[in-house]
Amino acid sequence: MADVVNTLPFFYGNITREEAEEHLRHAGTASGLYLLRQSRNYLGGFALSVSHSKRCYHYTIERQADQTYAIAGGKSHPSPVDVIDYHSQETDGLVCLLKKPCNRPKNMQPKIGPFEDLKEKMIREYVKQTWNLQGAALEQAIISQRPQLEKRIATTAHEQMPWFHGSITRENSEPRLQNGSRVNGKFLIRQRDQNGSYALCLLHEGQVMHYRIDRDRTGKLSIPDGKKFDTLWQLVEHYSYKPDGLLRVLTEPCPRPDGEMGRPLLPRNHPGLGPTLQSAAGGIFSMIKNVPIPGITKKPTPGPRPSFTKDLNPYESKEAMPMDTEVYESPYADPDELRSSKVDRSHLYLEDGVLGSGNFGTVMKGIYKMRKTEKTVAVKILKNDDDNPAVRDEMLREANVMQQLDNPYIVRMIGICEAENLMLVMELAELGPLNKFLQKNKQTSMKNITELVHQVSMGMKYLEEHNFVHRDLAARNVLLVTQHYAKISDFGLSKAVAEDQNYYTAKCHGKWPVKWYAPECINYFKFSSKSDVWSFGVLMWEAYSFGQKPYKGLKGNDVMQMIESGKRMDAPLNCPEEMYELMRTCWTYKTEERPGFSVVEPRLREYYYDIAQ
Ligand code: AMP
Repeated sequence: MADVVNTLPFFYGNITREEAEEHLRHAGTASGLYLLRQSRNYLGGFALSVSHSKRCYHYTIERQADQTYAIAGGKSHPSPVDVIDYHSQETDGLVCLLKKPCNRPKNMQPKIGPFEDLKEKMIREYVKQTWNLQGAALEQAIISQRPQLEKRIATTAHEQMPWFHGSITRENSEPRLQNGSRVNGKFLIRQRDQNGSYALCLLHEGQVMHYRIDRDRTGKLSIPDGKKFDTLWQLVEHYSYKPDGLLRVLTEPCPRPDGEMGRPLLPRNHPGLGPTLQSAAGGIFSMIKNVPIPGITKKPTPGPRPSFTKDLNPYESKEAMPMDTEVYESPYADPDELRSSKVDRSHLYLEDGVLGSGNFGTVMKGIYKMRKTEKTVAVKILKNDDDNPAVRDEMLREANVMQQLDNPYIVRMIGICEAENLMLVMELAELGPLNKFLQKNKQTSMKNITELVHQVSMGMKYLEEHNFVHRDLAARNVLLVTQHYAKISDFGLSKAVAEDQNYYTAKCHGKWPVKWYAPECINYFKFSSKSDVWSFGVLMWEAYSFGQKPYKGLKGNDVMQMIESGKRMDAPLNCPEEMYELMRTCWTYKTEERPGFSVVEPRLREYYYDIAQ
């Protein structure tokens, strides 16, 4: 959303209410003249400033839980632009109709907020330090989890600010403010309890004033009867430019005592930061919190780690991110683990209980004792069937392909174990196939489905870049590690393709998943990443229809006829329009006109960020 809004000529970015009034005055204050700016108190929200009868009126456009936008108490709309369109036809509580946009002067860009400026660096550093990631693993983590990371950064950023002193008592806060410089407006914030209540302590004429900061039922923070904010740093920014009920504005952050500050991430005089954030830059991520999430095993990380003093903000969602799991990075990413495609049987323990089965045999849960750690794994066990060497070959081919792949969104092979049976040891994705999961969990949100489908597109983009075709991409072959972490599996039909030719020609028709296959696969036996894109469209359809079977009631031949006649499946019930459009694009008849994953993935990403932020 922010990207679209940024291009609007009447969007001014992070300007204050006073600056907005100045722009409107400059443009003549005609009734109905309006501009849009970023909300300085609500994350992802906007403010609409309108002039009428020589006065300025300001309305907050809040982003609501269902991703729509509304002026408090008003009708919901898909975007802030729709809110404006609506109020150019209907006053519906506004002081007047919106008549004319007050456009930015030429060459003036929307003002970037101090936090926006810092955000990129903060996210990178946060991911690096929290999960000890670098290189491709770091980039992939940021791409797939950006909305969650942004929120985490925004809601915990205050912990890195020098003015945030943690949970100290009122008595302890006073000498801290009285020591050293005693400038009016010197301030700090302390935590009052674990329920999200804080206090702002402010030096005024040598005396320390204490203002309570309470959190309301919706999680918003405010000084009693004051303006509400999503985050403490927004509150501090606001009272740094305007007293708004306090005895005076906040001037100088009272720094935490030495030893409570960490290693500097950014130079202290990083340009473009407000005074409070600027001093914060000296200590960002000195104390990033890192809390294990129930049910998730934290991977052991080498080297010194930041010290963690308390829980994550209790008001922040604690949904596990892929990086919180054991299987985000390859076990062999740790240089101390010996990379070997052979698994020693004496290091492998099989547990009771079957995870699944196929025509090769069964998949069981197991434990693999590695040099440094023990990993819970999935073990594909070939049934002893001397009559069928083809199945053994197929399994070895699958292992050979998997061994060459290393991506967080693809099930990795850990090794092959040749013992009483041939066994393929893989990363465990305990929640099982995506289609079955969605059939059982019909309350899964569109955002969650989009997050998973986007991860699949990231894995497929990796395959495309490495010249592999999957040939059996379907929701049944996407396995879930958690509700928020999907991995592509089942490489039994996969092939490496020559870089210059980039397709594989099958010698004959096999037992094929025809409903997932592009026309050129059926007609010419030709398989490429583009035909995987077609299958991906079917997979998307399965996901947004909560695991229903595609082309229900039709035989393979009927499906082929339907496709040849130009028909495609209808949109699943309640499927977001943008996502159905993308499925239809994946079902472009001509291979050369069909986009690759290098186009599909960013389109999904953009939509996911839009609905998830
Ligand atoms: P496959 O023939 O590879 O599709 O495996 C058959 C079934 O075994 C799948 O549908 C899953 O239920 C289960 N399975 C396969 N691989 C794994 C894995 N790595 N982690 C968890 N379950 C798995």
